Amino acid sequence: MDNLARRVILRPMDTDIIIVGGGLNGPALALAAAQAGFAVTIIDSLAIDRRKRPDFDGRSYALALSSKRLLQGIGVWDAVSDDAQPMLEIKVTDGRAGEGPSPWMLHFDHAEIEEGPMGFMVEDRHLRRAFLDAMAEEPLITQLSKETVVSQAIQNAQASVTLASGKVVTGHILVGSDGRRSGTAERAGIKRTGWGYGQTAVVCAAVHDKPHGGIAHQFFMPGGPLAILPLTENRSSIVWSETDARATELATMNDTDFLDALRPAFGSFLGQISLTGARFTYPLGLTLANSLIGDRLALVGDAAHGMHPIAGQGLNAGLRDVAALAEVLSDARARGEDIGSLQVLERYQLWRRFDTATLALATDTFNRLFSNDNPLLRAARDIGMGAVNAIPGLRRGFIREAAGLTGDLPKLMQG
Ligand SMILES: Cc1cc2nc3c(=O)[nH]c(=O)nc-3n(C[C@H](O)[C@H](O)[C@H](O)COP(=O)(O)OP(=O)(O)OC[C@H]3O[C@@H](n4cnc5c(N)ncnc54)[C@H](O)[C@@H]3O)c2cc1C
Repeated sequence: MDNLARRVILRPMDTDIIIVGGGLNGPALALAAAQAGFAVTIIDSLAIDRRKRPDFDGRSYALALSSKRLLQGIGVWDAVSDDAQPMLEIKVTDGRAGEGPSPWMLHFDHAEIEEGPMGFMVEDRHLRRAFLDAMAEEPLITQLSKETVVSQAIQNAQASVTLASGKVVTGHILVGSDGRRSGTAERAGIKRTGWGYGQTAVVCAAVHDKPHGGIAHQFFMPGGPLAILPLTENRSSIVWSETDARATELATMNDTDFLDALRPAFGSFLGQISLTGARFTYPLGLTLANSLIGDRLALVGDAAHGMHPIAGQGLNAGLRDVAALAEVLSDARARGEDIGSLQVLERYQLWRRFDTATLALATDTFNRLFSNDNPLLRAARDIGMGAVNAIPGLRRGFIREAAGLTGDLPKLMQG
């Protein structure tokens, strides 16, 4: 099919969909929408070369099975699959510094479900590059980089954004995938609800001499959760959430002192460990947009919901927004509807708002319940974990949840 034929709607506008934000969710939406025949213009303040640098972002993502299916559907998975580590098991332990892990442990094993690994660990550097490369190959996508959106307007059934360079881009719909402090939401008058946790995540990667066996570990420590997540080869990603002050200390001390601080919590189950690469910090907080839609406008990803990484679900939730929005817009166009109309956008909001708010608030509750040393709460959560672990039906429910297989899955995530 040639490009003109694939671009189903030809209108006197620059593009069908304007996406502000070329982080992770923006490119996923650009690819899904372009493959459905929409022309897309995606704008990011940062240069492509900068976003492609291997040290641009130190995170690695626990991508649920449903997110992997989306990446397969939009043609990105093959570029990351060799560097993706299957997550075969998850072990969750309530720990207290100096005392080691409590005997109560949650253990989720992918062997209890039929679909395969619950998810895959993928490093940001591989995922971001794969998105950028795939977008460069897609003729229906125009990438504007080193361009910052400074204002937006809706007029005569048309959305437009003005860039700092003075350029104006027009389209049928504007999508904000511009992160936790979404200017797109703010300019549209969409208020946010949220708070900081007084916690910062210190993120780095470690090499160890024993194999991790594809097992992800989460230790709940009084200052915040410590996650040790399997990467390819004998490497793990460490996400250590601590109070802001402690995190600043941890991020700035030398490698030897950092490893000395890490060892009592980390333990020795992976043998000798050493750091590879830099340490990165991410202040943690909850931020929920009070609406996912506005006049010719939709929000996806962190622009809609920024949550605590305790359950590794932020990007997974964003990718589900992407798959849902792409499906809603594509169905609307097939019915001859205006893709920017409120009745179309309300379908997207109805599909995603309750799910994302519930997930964000659940991560908030988990973090409050686990990030403290209160003996009563400690006893309650240990009994809770023991109970979930002992009831196979409940345990399988959690495994399916972690794999992203529950709820109303968009077609791109059904496999
Ligand atoms: C420590 C940590 C670990 C995590 N681990 C996981 C995990 O294991 N699994 C998981 O699912 N999620 C995880 N997450 C969540 C995940 O990282 C985020 O949900 C995801 O990165 C959000 O991507 P995004 O594209 O929505 O936003 P962002 O990555 O914030 O992208 C926003 C983009 O918008 C651009 N932008 C902003 N304003 C403008 C403007 N005016 N004009 C032009 N461009 C603009 C910015 O330059 C940026 O590139 C983790 C988060 C943290 C902090």
